[in-house]
Amino acid sequence: MTNAFNDLLALDVAALPRMSRHRWTTSSKRNPCPLCGRDSDDKCRRSADLISCYWGERFSPPAGLKLGQVLTVEGGPWAVVNLSGGFAGNSLILRPDSERKAFRPAEIQQQKRAAVVLAPVLRSLFIRLRSHVHACLAIAEFQHATAEQLCADRELLAATVHQLQQLRGPLVLARREDPAMGRLVQAVDHWLKLISYQARDLAAFDRWAL
Ligand SMILES: [Zn+2]
Repeated sequence: MTNAFNDLLALDVAALPRMSRHRWTTSSKRNPCPLCGRDSDDKCRRSADLISCYWGERFSPPAGLKLGQVLTVEGGPWAVVNLSGGFAGNSLILRPDSERKAFRPAEIQQQKRAAVVLAPVLRSLFIRLRSHVHACLAIAEFQHATAEQLCADRELLAATVHQLQQLRGPLVLARREDPAMGRLVQAVDHWLKLISYQARDLAAFDRWAL
């Protein structure tokens, strides 16, 4: 029951951006067609990932366009995917040329805002983990350790690896908007490597001690 409810919730959330992307705007005085400037009627239509521009008399797509040609519309690249699309085959159809983000300024703004909020949180997690890493790297002289100490060492190594791996994903995402995060990703990778050496040494010692 709970699972089904969660699935439904996840589905709704996943569907949101798709739905808003397909919301149509028709050309009008307030929303002229971004390609031909039509503002006299609603024959041109657009959504976030499709522009349908009507071949009319007074307003019309630029002459000489070819299939596959890429145009800049509102600062983003759009490709001509159909010269005779629309209900009656009398519209030019454009699609975003690629997954380049330029044509979705609202999403970029949203991601940037999220990155700004997230950055200090990730940094403080990073700093907290750094002290765990230092504790891991300070583990030495297994042969003088008690059995309890070895057990605690093993737990510390495993927990630190787990937390580093948990932090790495969000850091990689944040790096897209904030290149400074790249250094933190590098540090996490470096630490994972060093700790894997420690874990290997400890495992080797375990085998030797047995
Ligand atoms: Zn138009």
